[in-house]
Amino acid sequence: MSKDPAIQRMEKIVSLCKRRGFIFQSSEIYGGLNGFWDYGPLGVELKRNLKDFWWRRNVRERDDMVGMDGSIIMNRAVWKASGHEDTFSDPMVDCRSCKSRHRADQLPVKDGLKYCPNCGSRDLTEPRAFNLMFKSFAGPIESDENLVYLRPETAQAIFVQFKNVLETSRQKLPFGIAQIGKAFRNEINPRNYTFRSREFEQMEIEYFCRAEDGLRLTDYWLEERLRFYEDIGIPRSKIHVHDIPDDERAFYSKKTYDLEYEFPFGVSELEGIAYRTDYDLSRHIEHSGKPLEYFDEETKQKFVPHVVEPSAGVDRTALALLCEAFDEEIVVGENGKSETRTVLRFHPRMAPVKCGIFPLLKNKPELVAKAREIATALRPFMTVFYDEGGAIGRRYRRQDEAGTPFGVTVDFETIGENGPEKKDTVTLRHRDSMKQERVSIADLKGRLLEAIA
Ligand code: ATP
Repeated sequence: MSKDPAIQRMEKIVSLCKRRGFIFQSSEIYGGLNGFWDYGPLGVELKRNLKDFWWRRNVRERDDMVGMDGSIIMNRAVWKASGHEDTFSDPMVDCRSCKSRHRADQLPVKDGLKYCPNCGSRDLTEPRAFNLMFKSFAGPIESDENLVYLRPETAQAIFVQFKNVLETSRQKLPFGIAQIGKAFRNEINPRNYTFRSREFEQMEIEYFCRAEDGLRLTDYWLEERLRFYEDIGIPRSKIHVHDIPDDERAFYSKKTYDLEYEFPFGVSELEGIAYRTDYDLSRHIEHSGKPLEYFDEETKQKFVPHVVEPSAGVDRTALALLCEAFDEEIVVGENGKSETRTVLRFHPRMAPVKCGIFPLLKNKPELVAKAREIATALRPFMTVFYDEGGAIGRRYRRQDEAGTPFGVTVDFETIGENGPEKKDTVTLRHRDSMKQERVSIADLKGRLLEAIA
């Protein structure tokens, strides 16, 4: 039976990620650990480009945003106040036949009845709440007093530091605090590759404002975030904006948009943008007894600001970038036969390696020296990959698979063997079109920087 093309596509992406060093199973040599992943040499560059661009766009390029980096483990009181200790749970059911565990709200249904996705049995327990926070202990004694949680989101550190950040940064409403960091959720069923992991990274913004501006700013952030995805190579047409209806939103939220991407395994959430009113700060004021209000110098009024929260996942966005970039096409190879070219068409901004640098032949010292000189000159500005092994066509293909947008080849013309007019020029190859052009070495850095900025 032929497989669903979407499943096949996903399998190819997963296999490419392993083969080329984007993503590995965590602790692989010991059989792995369900829900945990390691990023290899290409994967870590991809994630870094994503986080750096998010930070640049949302913090450095704006007057009204500042950053922070909170601790992963915080006082347990934070999670009591936020409501996570009592309510951050998913409904879990056990299958009595095969003993597997599942999220009750994700069970498949046939003829109106839920069944076990593992063995098909309908003999399931009643759902019960399972808290998703990982527990640990701070200090040597494993007592209730020392119980701590690994944060299930980065946002709470922003709320509890609201006053410190406000006072030290001297911001005025509206303004935002941004943070990127690890979060942990003991998901009942990690699945869809890295999509639902137990350890992941979030990129979160808490944008504080006056109550009357909350709804307008939620729409403003929706537009900002769609523009961001476009600028990293995920077109709007692939993002579904789900306006969460009143009866499905958290009770404190007046508006929530989920941004969902068309993954091969289905349309699934990349980011949530929620207008959370003054709920979070009010809870922390109530529980800590500390004044977290904002004082308006002009009107002399003191009030609890409202907040809009765009909360995105680094890993889910990296996975979307991989899915969006993956392509296979039939091309005519060097031997005149047609072959399949696998190419990751990353936006140059996101590409893990920006430029491959190749001396045409590795046994010509002058070619090698020139190619190395070019690589050294570019390295402070971008990630480059120097490769002298094998036929040039094979070297291009290897970079196509890594998603490298540009290739620079140093040949005999570069070193002036075919006359002075081509001396100090190189071949610049474009990954997507495979077109080649002659570029002077002096112009190379400027050309590449313009494309990746
Ligand atoms: P889901 O409904 O998929 O469990 P959520 O609505 O609980 O997600 P939020 O609490 O809104 O997610 O978290 C914000 C973002 O953090 C998500 O949009 C997603 O990008 C990321 N995220 C949340 N849970 C996970 C996870 N288990 N693995 C990877 N990323 C996650």
